[in-house]
Amino acid sequence: MNTENKKATIIGGGPAGLAAGVYSVRAGVKTAIIEKLFAGGSMLLTEKIDNYPGFPEGVSGYELAEKMKSQYLRFGGEIIQGDVDEVFFEGVRKRIRMKDGREEEADALIIASGSSRKKLGIEGEDEYTGKGVSFCAVCDGAFFKGKKIAVIGGGDSALEEAVYLTRFAEKCYLIHRRDEFRASAYLQNELKKHSVQTVLSAVPERIEGDGKTVKRVILRRNKTDEMLSFEADGVFISIGQKPNVEFINGKVEQNPAGYIVTNYKMETSEKGVFACGDVIKKTLYQVVTACGEGATAAASAEKYLSAM
Ligand code: NAP
Repeated sequence: MNTENKKATIIGGGPAGLAAGVYSVRAGVKTAIIEKLFAGGSMLLTEKIDNYPGFPEGVSGYELAEKMKSQYLRFGGEIIQGDVDEVFFEGVRKRIRMKDGREEEADALIIASGSSRKKLGIEGEDEYTGKGVSFCAVCDGAFFKGKKIAVIGGGDSALEEAVYLTRFAEKCYLIHRRDEFRASAYLQNELKKHSVQTVLSAVPERIEGDGKTVKRVILRRNKTDEMLSFEADGVFISIGQKPNVEFINGKVEQNPAGYIVTNYKMETSEKGVFACGDVIKKTLYQVVTACGEGATAAASAEKYLSAM
């Protein structure tokens, strides 16, 4: 197979992008990863990853990200810092334009841009973001030592964050809109071992403060419409993810929620464009699946480049 002078560009340096990078460079393809800030993606927002094979004691998200990044760099991969604005597929080569106007060209494109936290869309959320409202417990938890914290959500992320925040919080509430959690049995069991007060069947209505910082969260009991007020210095919103696809602009097939549709080879609807990780429609959103999809996307891209 001949991929000489052919280039693969990967958008996103999370586990999917880094795994794709390792496989692509090792296959002899000139490879660049475009990353907005720091390589690692969602791993950087996770204190401890307990279910990635090969780490019997678990591994910190930061450490795993650093290891994957240095493995990619050791094989000669390139990392370009940039925020992708739009992609263009008209010519033979794919064009990637960044928000600062720089452009990259590639023969094959792998989209591994991941997902971001969803917002509640309630009063006070934007106003107090960074002033008590947070979307990342690992990043901001330590600011709330000895304080009251409310975590919103009922999935794996919310339970994991509530458990993590108990090390700082004087009082930790976990507020969920239904009467049962969506999170795995393992995390529900972990939650029981920690001092977290669960508030079920309660929908957040607004976040109130004194103009400078958060003071309380107002909830509505969804069965009775009763209004509740919980004093909180921090509100951690953990209600799921949305794919980072703004730069795609409908140029590959996406499902109604915006996730990119791929086949088992990680091919998208556009020839020479592959996708992997949390940005695609799939059943299991985990570091280990992201890595597997990254490897598959790189192998498919190499095959595509060889046949060009
Ligand atoms: P998720 O599984 O989609 O859960 C989102 C939670 O937020 C749900 O409980 C949902 O309530 C609630 N929610 C959504 N919109 C809401 C709104 N407007 N107001 C109030 N509550 C709202 O998202 P996630 O927890 O971020 O997890 C994302 C993926 O990553 C999942 O596949 C998860 O398994 C995976 N993950 C795995 C681990 C791990 O294995 N250790 C850790 C973190 C994440 P309903 O239940 O009522 O819909």
